[in-house]
Amino acid sequence: MLKHLSLIWKLTLSFMLVALTSAALVAIFIRFTTSDRLFGLIIEQQRSELQTTLTEYYSEHGSWQDVEQNWQKIWIDSLRQPTPNPETPDQQDPRKDPSRDRRRIFGLADADGVVLISLEPFFHKGETLSQETLNKGISITLNDQKIGTILTAPLEPRLTPEEDMFLQRTNQALLLAAIAAIVTALIIGILLARTLVTPLRSLTAAVQKMTSGELGQKVNVDSNDEIGILSQKFNQMSEEVARVNRQRRQMTADIAHDLRTPLTVIAGYIESMQDGVLQPTQERLALIYNEIERLQDLVSDLRTLSLADTGEISLHPQLFSPRYLLERALAPYQHRAEQQKVSLRLDIKEPVNAIKVDESRMMQIFSNLLSNALRYTSEDGEILLSAEQKGQVVEIAVKDTGEGILEENLPHIFERFYRADPSRYTETGETTGLGLAIVKALVEVQGGNIRAESTIGQGTAIYIQFKASDQVLEEQVED
Ligand code: ATP
Ligand code: MG
Repeated sequence: MLKHLSLIWKLTLSFMLVALTSAALVAIFIRFTTSDRLFGLIIEQQRSELQTTLTEYYSEHGSWQDVEQNWQKIWIDSLRQPTPNPETPDQQDPRKDPSRDRRRIFGLADADGVVLISLEPFFHKGETLSQETLNKGISITLNDQKIGTILTAPLEPRLTPEEDMFLQRTNQALLLAAIAAIVTALIIGILLARTLVTPLRSLTAAVQKMTSGELGQKVNVDSNDEIGILSQKFNQMSEEVARVNRQRRQMTADIAHDLRTPLTVIAGYIESMQDGVLQPTQERLALIYNEIERLQDLVSDLRTLSLADTGEISLHPQLFSPRYLLERALAPYQHRAEQQKVSLRLDIKEPVNAIKVDESRMMQIFSNLLSNALRYTSEDGEILLSAEQKGQVVEIAVKDTGEGILEENLPHIFERFYRADPSRYTETGETTGLGLAIVKALVEVQGGNIRAESTIGQGTAIYIQFKASDQVLEEQVED
């Protein structure tokens, strides 16, 4: 049943329960301590007064003779200070109306322990009491000699009307306090529950909207408690989901665009050749073949990325010295660099430990980085391939003195289909914007990390780090 109650009711009910329990506990506590103390006080006070009166009586008479006949008088005499009551003085003063005093709670035994004044039903007149029972009473002494014992009933004495009234008033006050506590609990419960429930409700609404396809939902965060943190995390998640979704759409559009352009070129040529408008010369066939190669490259790039996404890229990691890898990577680009009048150099700060990587994937990485560097570096520029041991990692860098990347574009260069200058594709058909995305995926799938630094007009550096092995490989033979 509790399962179906809303949070507001659950909280309010629990507050009320706590308030009621504490009120009840306080009531019980006060009831006991008050009456206990009252009774204790009454008995204490009356007994000491009775003690004095009885001692006086004994010294006057020299014995307990006729004490029973005089008991009523002695008893009333002992109440020297009756509680004054201005409203009904005669009723409240036991001197005037002894029958109203119901606190007959004392008996008397003589020095031998024989009961002189009975206290029914505990002590009967004439009965001789045991020492143990006498010890519980209060002894009366005269000139250091024991002359008797005041016996006290193990009974709760009845309360006088004022005492009754006092207890009644306390109970009334407690009842009022309990009611006030319940009302307060109700108000606080509802208020507090609202502050808890409102953000939860808006979270639920936002989740519902996201489920029905309205991505990018945001909720207000106005606390730092667990619900506030949940709302914050929800907002982060929602933003990320929206971003990924945008990226996916953009990527589909990019793929479609990049596929269509070469296909249009190919279809155009073939159509014209079929119509006899163009002759299928070697040159034209080479152009068509070129476009087909681009399509193949694109499809293979996409395949690499999708394999990386699903973690299915095949790897054959082996230990390689960074020098060996960089030398192999550099060789195929040396000629192109010379043609472009760009100096391509190697800089290895020996000793550098070997790294455990897949050789062909590393070649794929370097070929992407080097073709970028060559593409964006003009004549008389310089491209530096370096390797350096940095503690537990080996850092490999490809630095160029090319055109650099704008600061605002730098965070995006590893995204798929991202080109800082989108016109490059449309004008020249040269780039796909997949190069660095593939590099990043290949580095990460081998346990490394990648970052870029660039200053516009001065050049770009791409740093790759791999975990260093514990050995240095001197000479590596190509297999
Ligand atoms: P692809 O490599 O697929 O042919 P691309 O080179 O344009 O296309 P990426 O290699 O992913 O794509 O690079 C993304 C963008 O980052 C590039 O379009 C370019 O704007 C910028 N960039 C990358 N490397 C450099 C560099 N060395 N100097 C200047 N800009 C660079
Ligand atoms: Mg590239």
